[in-house]
Amino acid sequence: MPHVIAPPPQPSVAVADTDDRFPVRRIFCVGRNYAAHTREMGRDPDREPPFFFTKPADAVVDDAQTVAYPPLTRDLHHEAELVVAIGRGGRDIAQAEALEHVWGYGAGNDLTRRDLQGEAKKMGRPWDWGKGFDRSAVVGPLRPAADLGHPARGRITATVNGTLRQEGDLADQIWSVPEIIAFLSQSMALQPGDLVMTGTPAGVGALVPGDQCVVEIEGVGKVRTTIGPRD
Ligand code: MN
Repeated sequence: MPHVIAPPPQPSVAVADTDDRFPVRRIFCVGRNYAAHTREMGRDPDREPPFFFTKPADAVVDDAQTVAYPPLTRDLHHEAELVVAIGRGGRDIAQAEALEHVWGYGAGNDLTRRDLQGEAKKMGRPWDWGKGFDRSAVVGPLRPAADLGHPARGRITATVNGTLRQEGDLADQIWSVPEIIAFLSQSMALQPGDLVMTGTPAGVGALVPGDQCVVEIEGVGKVRTTIGPRD
């Protein structure tokens, strides 16, 4: 069937050590998944059910790219996160089978316009403007679970210009990857190509033009971003 405008290109992220790409369908993000970060955001980490927000699939940015400082904000933040790439869809996925749905993992940076997010929280409004802007989903080269296994622990860090800003361990996640997949798939059918950004440890902070931010996860990989001037 002909399209009335040119179909948009398929967003995708890199696969490590190959020219292959992983096509991206949707991006789900977990809010407040590390106790220390939950506290720094002024909340009690009392294991209330996980909650999610989304970013557009075409917000993805590869490793070693320059991201222009986004519009409307004066407080752009980094958030170091483990990214889970779903290879097999399903609904009502049992925790015990959840990892069979994972294609691979990567290091990510959930770029956030913190001032807009804070305003949205205060006003009881959606988080989209704080979270779902252009080029807000930095995702490093994915590694297949077939090679890597399923990392349940490992140091996760963010450095800015070589200075350590965020540090945590995947083992400190409030909700594990199998639990997150089980919860998500109760709400909607997961599909191949979905990405899940699994939350950030403590130490989030501001980025300014000229900054070099590196997110690294032990055993998974890293992703580097340079912040450029406003467009
Ligand atoms: Mn996040």
